[in-house]
Amino acid sequence: MYRFDEIKGYEEIIQHFQNAIKLNKISHAYIIEGEGGMGKKRLANTYAKVMECQAHGIEACDVCSSCRLFDSGNHPDVIHIHASKKTGIGVDDIRDQVNKDVYIKPYVYDYKIYVIHDAEKMTVQAQNALLKTLEEPPIHVRFILLATHTHTFLPTILSRCVVIRLRALSQKCIEDYLEKDLGIPDYQAKLYASFARGNMGRALALRHSESFHEMRNDMIQVMMVISRKDKVEAMEQVEIFEKYKDEKQDFLDIMLTWIRDLMVIKSLGDLEPLIHMDNKNLLLKQVPYLSYNRISSLIEGIEQIRKYDRLHINYTLLVEVMLIQAMNSK
Ligand SMILES: [Zn+2]
Repeated sequence: MYRFDEIKGYEEIIQHFQNAIKLNKISHAYIIEGEGGMGKKRLANTYAKVMECQAHGIEACDVCSSCRLFDSGNHPDVIHIHASKKTGIGVDDIRDQVNKDVYIKPYVYDYKIYVIHDAEKMTVQAQNALLKTLEEPPIHVRFILLATHTHTFLPTILSRCVVIRLRALSQKCIEDYLEKDLGIPDYQAKLYASFARGNMGRALALRHSESFHEMRNDMIQVMMVISRKDKVEAMEQVEIFEKYKDEKQDFLDIMLTWIRDLMVIKSLGDLEPLIHMDNKNLLLKQVPYLSYNRISSLIEGIEQIRKYDRLHINYTLLVEVMLIQAMNSK
C-alpha cells in the first residue's frame, strides 16, 4: 500500500506535496529525478493516490473506493505510460496515450493523472507533442514524469514542470529502515547500508545479490592471505583484484569496511558493532597478524589506487605496489 508515512528519508519532498494538496496548489506537472532504486515510483504513486483520495486529506485514507482501486492497481484515472525498450517514448505514444486522452474528463475521481515512466527517453518530437498539452493543460489533468536525469529534456519542458531531485539518503536512514522496519540483523543492515551509496533500492537488492556475497568472500580471502607472511602468495591475489576491475570501487569499499572492523577490534576490543559480524571469527583470527603499520599501508594503497585510477594509471601495477608495500611493512 502506498502511504507518505511509509516513505523514508524524503520528508521535505513529502511536506512539499502535502502542502500543495492542503493549499490546493498542486502543480500541473512534476518531474521526479533520481537514479534507479531511489524511490521515484513510490513517491509518484503515493502522491497520485493521495491526490485522488476521497477523504481529501494529506495522507491516503486507504478505505475510500479510490484508495482501494489504487492499491489493487486498477485506478481508472491514474494512467501509466511506459517507454518501449527499443524506441523509448515516441511522438505517437504521447499523441495516442496523452494528447488524445487528456480532454476526456476523469471517469470517476478528481484528477486524471499521467505518470510517465523513464520520461528521459522521450524523443524530441514526443516532448514537443507533450509540450502542447503542458502549455494549456485541462484543469483536471496532472503529470508526473519520472526520470533518471533531466539533461535530455527540452528547456521548455523543464520550465513548465516542478523538478523534484531525489538526493542520496544518509547511511543511518537506510540502516534504520533495514533494521527497524524490515527486521534485518543490525550487522547486516550496517553492511548493506554502507554499500548502498544513499540508494535504498540498492541496499534492498544487495540482500539477495549473489555477486555481492561472492565479492565479499573473495575480499576476505585476499585479506586472509595478506595477514599471513607469504609474499609470493600475496602477489597471486592480484588475480582477484583483476576479476573486479570493472567494479574496483565496490571491491575497494568492501575491503575498507573489513579493515575498519579490524581497526575496531584492535583499538576498542570488539565493543563496537562490527559490519562483518557474521565473520567475526575470521576477523579475530587476522587481528594479531596485521600490525597497525600493515593496515595503514593498505589504507594508503587503496587511496592511491583510487587517486591514480582517475588519471588512468595501470590498475594492476597499482595493486601490485599496494601488496608489496603492505607485505614489506612490519
Ligand atoms: Zn482514500
